[in-house]
Amino acid sequence: MHAMLPLLNQLSFPPLRRGHLEALQVNLTYRCNQRCLHCHVNAGPTRTESMSDETLAILHQVIDAHPVHTLDLTGGAPELHPRFRELVSHGRREGLRVIDRCNLTILSEPGQADLGSFLAAQGVEITASLPCYSRENVDRQRGDGVFDASIQGLRQLNALGYGQAGSGLILNLVYNPQGPSLPPPQAQLEADYKQHLSDEFGIQFDHLLTITNQPIARFGSTLVSKGQFAAYMQLLRDSYRAENLDGLMCRSLVSVDWQGYLYDCDFNQMLDLPLQLIGRDRAHLRDLLSSELDGNPIVTRDHCYACTAGQGSSCGGALG
Ligand code: SF4
Ligand code: SF4
Repeated sequence: MHAMLPLLNQLSFPPLRRGHLEALQVNLTYRCNQRCLHCHVNAGPTRTESMSDETLAILHQVIDAHPVHTLDLTGGAPELHPRFRELVSHGRREGLRVIDRCNLTILSEPGQADLGSFLAAQGVEITASLPCYSRENVDRQRGDGVFDASIQGLRQLNALGYGQAGSGLILNLVYNPQGPSLPPPQAQLEADYKQHLSDEFGIQFDHLLTITNQPIARFGSTLVSKGQFAAYMQLLRDSYRAENLDGLMCRSLVSVDWQGYLYDCDFNQMLDLPLQLIGRDRAHLRDLLSSELDGNPIVTRDHCYACTAGQGSSCGGALG
């Protein structure tokens, strides 16, 4: 049972409008081989939510018709969607940058032995969560044995050329703090990760993306139950930096849920705050075939202060 989250105020964050749409971030399925404690979509092996063929057909049409240049695939474990590879291949054929938000352990799941080589052959960029380089911390957050399986996955990707200079195969890792603090400076932490993972495990990667925890979902509930919610919100507000506003991911990305509904970002998807489009009850992928989002107001609440705090935060790491 999670503690109740306070309602997020919608009045205090500065009004924002969309810029040009550049990226589709698509949640293909809630199915996952893992069942992490902190998972914001409560993903797991028994979840059945999965993008239908009908919705996928619209996504394929959007890829053909819309000048987006990035397809960012997430879940659950997006690779478990039965049409994942078809979608990736189509995106790459159309010249899109395709990102797979990969949990690393999926690479050693039954039936996925050739997943790594498929991703490498397609030139897919991999973004993988490794919240810490300590086995104890990772296993506590993500489940027993996850650290070792993640290291094995990273080694497999390195052997395929991922994270190796000159290969063109990008392997990025994601870090988020374990508690109610802002992430440390991204460049310094990246240097620490690189040294540690190289010395201890012989692993190479391209960039570390630091992401500020949002005061929502399980992390928000944990703060409430520990009596830390108000102090964390205050920290986010006190760390506000207006220069981060221009780079906010919601200005150029749209988040798509497994049913095809649209949100200004993944966090708004978690909060069920749909993208507001004039004339639509609920904006859907198919609306991208007929409507421009440029200049559309972005739905904001107090959780948005997590994106503007300190060095700034987005699904691509720090903004500053
Ligand atoms: S690997 Fe990711 S999607 Fe899967 S349960 Fe963990 S946090 Fe959720
Ligand atoms: S949470 Fe961040 S990305 Fe989402 S709408 Fe707010 S500022 Fe934009």
